[in-house]
Amino acid sequence: MVRRWIWIGLGGVLVAMLSLGLGSARAAGPLEPVLTVRGLPPMQTTAATALQPLKADQPGPTDFAAPELELAQATPPRQVTALADPTNYGDRFLTDVNGQAVRNDFIAVLHETVGSAQSALNLFRTRHPRDQDQVSYHALIGRDGTVYYIVPPEKRAFGAGNSVFNGPNGPETVRTNAAFPPSVNNFAYHVSLETPGDGFNNRRSHSGYTQAQYNSLAWLLAQTTIPDNRITTHQAVDRSGNRMDPRSFNSSSFFGQLRRYPTRSSLAG
Ligand SMILES: [Zn+2]
Repeated sequence: MVRRWIWIGLGGVLVAMLSLGLGSARAAGPLEPVLTVRGLPPMQTTAATALQPLKADQPGPTDFAAPELELAQATPPRQVTALADPTNYGDRFLTDVNGQAVRNDFIAVLHETVGSAQSALNLFRTRHPRDQDQVSYHALIGRDGTVYYIVPPEKRAFGAGNSVFNGPNGPETVRTNAAFPPSVNNFAYHVSLETPGDGFNNRRSHSGYTQAQYNSLAWLLAQTTIPDNRITTHQAVDRSGNRMDPRSFNSSSFFGQLRRYPTRSSLAG
């Protein structure tokens, strides 16, 4: 009998130690990182694609003819992994800066690079110790349709500053840093399109994106479970008033491509 109580006593001590351990881990801060995600495209990690050299700057194709449906769906685009420096992205969190649980579904936020894809990739690969210099997208689509994977999907890319998503569930935004305004980054999948050469300026529009870019964008987002009504633009979520991207974006062309994927039928708004 005495021995049994000793075992129960030891068990109690163990339980107490375990819960103390968990307690101290939680007490480290209100922000709890997300470790895995579902419903976002995986990164290409095979050596064959990861080690491909980046292409030099070159003009994109100018043929805007609609491709064959089966061809567009069956052929994945060229994919290259070009990871950002870790200073340019962070964790996604289950809680905000005040310790409040956040449960936003993902949104996709579309951007454009304004400069070349190569210059954007170089910027993301550069170490940025200062918070205000850190910037990234999850993926970037070159003029030739190449998909560059930059930030792992389970991580929080720094694609938007002061921002809010006004969607079917009302305004959504999350503050994860007391020094900065709330943003959509915690639940955003940021995808950027390489700007055409005539758009390397601040005009309101330019000659637009290639068919290969629309095909690759649709192919990429067809791998997500993000519904049509949660696919938005940087311009739409921006609260600073100075973001206009992606300029010249043809929504009907893009959604036309996306809805060709049978898996999207239940996600169309
Ligand atoms: Zn943007």
